[in-house]
This record gives sequence, C-alpha cells and structure tokens, in this order.
Amino acid sequence: MNIIKAYGAHVADKPLEPIDIERREPGARDVQIEIAYCGVCHSDLHTVRSEWAGTLYPCVPGHEIVGRVTAVGGDVKSFKAGDTVGVGCLVNSCQHCDACAANLEQYCENGFVATYNSRIADPPGHTLGGYSQRIVVDEKFVLRIRHPESQLAAVAPLLCAGITTYSPLRHWNTGPGRKVGIVGIGGLGHMGIKLAHAMGAHTVAFTTSEGKRKDALDLGADEVVVSKNAGEMKKHANSFDFILDTVAASHDLDAFTTLLARDGTLCLVGVPEHAHPSPNVGALIFKRRAIAGSLIGGLAETQEMLDFCAERGIVSEIEMIPIQKIDEAYDRMQRSDVKYRFVIDNASLAR
Ligand code: NAP
Ligand code: ZN
Repeated sequence: MNIIKAYGAHVADKPLEPIDIERREPGARDVQIEIAYCGVCHSDLHTVRSEWAGTLYPCVPGHEIVGRVTAVGGDVKSFKAGDTVGVGCLVNSCQHCDACAANLEQYCENGFVATYNSRIADPPGHTLGGYSQRIVVDEKFVLRIRHPESQLAAVAPLLCAGITTYSPLRHWNTGPGRKVGIVGIGGLGHMGIKLAHAMGAHTVAFTTSEGKRKDALDLGADEVVVSKNAGEMKKHANSFDFILDTVAASHDLDAFTTLLARDGTLCLVGVPEHAHPSPNVGALIFKRRAIAGSLIGGLAETQEMLDFCAERGIVSEIEMIPIQKIDEAYDRMQRSDVKYRFVIDNASLAR
C-alpha cells in the first residue's frame, strides 16, 4: 500500500480538508496513474454534502481525472509508463452481464463500481476519487487521451461532463436537420452545447442567467433563450426533437415538455436533491412526447467521445483552482457561477 495526499470530507456540513489515503500496489491488470488534473462535477458537491442518500465518509470525490501512467501490472497490454490517460466515473463493473457485454458498463446489472463512494475491499472499504495524487485502476477502465499535452487540464471535464452529454445526444440521433435544446449552462450544459453543435444539430441553449447569453453563442449555440422569460419560451412551443436537461435543481419540467414537437424527448441528466414537480400528463400524451433519463456512458463510447473531441479540438472552458479553494468553488457552483468547469491542479495537493 502507498500513502498519498488527498482532500476529502469527514461529514456533510464541514469543509473538505487534507487527508492521507492508501492506494493499493498495482495488481496484474492495474494501471497506476499520477493525477495531473481533476474536474469538479456538481455530483461531487451533491455527494460530499450528502444531498443524495448514501454518502460514505471519509469522502474523496473527483471523477474527471487526467494524468500520466507511472506503473502497470504484468498483464496490462494497452498502456505503459508515461502514457497520458483519463479515468471517468467508473472504475469497474461485473463484465459479464448483458449490459457489460453491450459496452454499457454504466448500466451493469450487478452494479458498477463508481470512482468514488462505491464499496470495495481496498481501505477504507469504499472507492476514493480524483482529489488525490494518484489512483490505481483496472486497465479496462482507463481511457487514452489524444489531445495535445497543452490542453490536458481542459480535457479533464470530458470524462464526465463530456460523456454524459455526448451519450444521449448520440442515442437520440441528434445531428443535421434536428432541433436540440440544452437546458442549464454549467459544466454539463456547456459541453452539451459544444457537442450538439459539432454533431450538426440546430442548437438552442436555455439559461436562467441573463449574463450567459453571449457566452452561449460563443460556445456554439444557434439561439439562446432565457427560460425565465415566458415570451421567449413561447416562440419555441412544439418545435424541438430533443431537449437535454442538465439542471442540478428541482424545476418545472412542463416548461420544456411543451416545447417538444410530436414524438420529441426531454432527457434528464441533472439529479437534483429534491424531486421535480410531477409533470403534466396532458402535455405528454397529446403529442406522444417522452421524458427519459441517461447515465454517463460506457467505456467504448467514452473513448469514442474523447477521440471525436480530439479530432475537432473540442475541450471544456475551465477555471483552474488549487485544491485549497475547493469549498469556495462549491459555493460558486451552487450559485450557478461557474465559467464553465472548475478544474483542480493536483500539484497543489503537495503544498
Ligand atoms: P453545474 O455546473 O452546477 O450546472 C448546472 C446548471 O444548471 C447551472 O449552471 C445553471 O445554469 C442551471 N441551474 C442551476 N440551478 C438552477 C435552478 N434552480 N433553476 C434552473 N436552472 C438552474 O452542474 P453540472 O456539473 O453540470 O451537473 C448538473 C447536474 O447533472 C447535477 O445534478 C449532477 O449531479 C448531474 N450529473 C448527472 C450525470 C448523469 O450521468 N446523469 C453525470 C454528471 C452529473 P444557468 O445559469 O444556465 O441557468
Ligand atoms: Zn460528474
């Protein structure tokens, strides 16, 4: 076992603090990674502050990990020391159920192992994430990074925010000739705008923040709607093929289902602490509209997304922080004041 530095929480209502954690020596199939940068996802905040049930403490979050391979086990074929790699939200799954066989490890029927907050044998009995100096991961769950080295920090958010928006955009066949809405311009939403635009869809950004209007256009939106303005919303009634809702708080879904055309889908990826108000059934049945959900993406699709982004020069818009500023970053994220993803410089853990 190796002792390394990390940042984590011991309880829901106190700030994160420095904590020493143990990582296993790499086993035969393991890749040991020195973490360079880790993105800050709203799921980290939900988990640390126990907004969802079941947080295991001490909690070291972080599932948008990029870094360099420092050692590999004897059976590892795909990676060697020095490679630039990423780790997203998953570090294991059963690898024999129908979902795993279909490269949909995120829907593993026996329960996947999340990068943090999943029970495992390693100390302290659950997984600890990327707010740490190093991680050891089965090679099947390690991704290859093909972006230039200079973009590495801005690639980190692709590992969750990128794949969580890419996967539903692909599944619902968004592309040329389709009208697509992205709701909430935060970490996920800003990647959703970039990816929907890159796939060729007519992309409309929905925001509650008047001040994000220009940014949304710069990110690739064809149109921007401030969702608090009823008049602006009404102009888009019955017109969308697909709307991706990334909002991290409870809100009225009818405002968006009523913008869908016949057979359109509102896909929820945001997971708020408190439930959304029950949607209006009439708004669904009269145009055969659907409300769906989507969870991150499998390993093959995550690699496909990373390569898609590398070929097109797509990265996240980031604000780099030292780990010591993490609580301030959480407070700003809570206030929708992120432009558009915080990324931790993991070198700051050594301070
Ligand atoms: P984020 O950076 O905080 O962005 C969320 C955005 O939602 C905000 O920037 C804001 O955008 C909008 N918003 C926030 N509060 C709102 C409110 N009360 N009413 C309306 N809009 C509001 O969060 P994130 O990291 O993108 O994550 C978003 C959600 O997705 C979280 O719940 C997270 O846990 C979840 N998530 C799900 C998956 C999955 O696999 N399904 C994966 C990762 C994350 P505007 O200022 O533009 O309105
Ligand atoms: Zn995430």
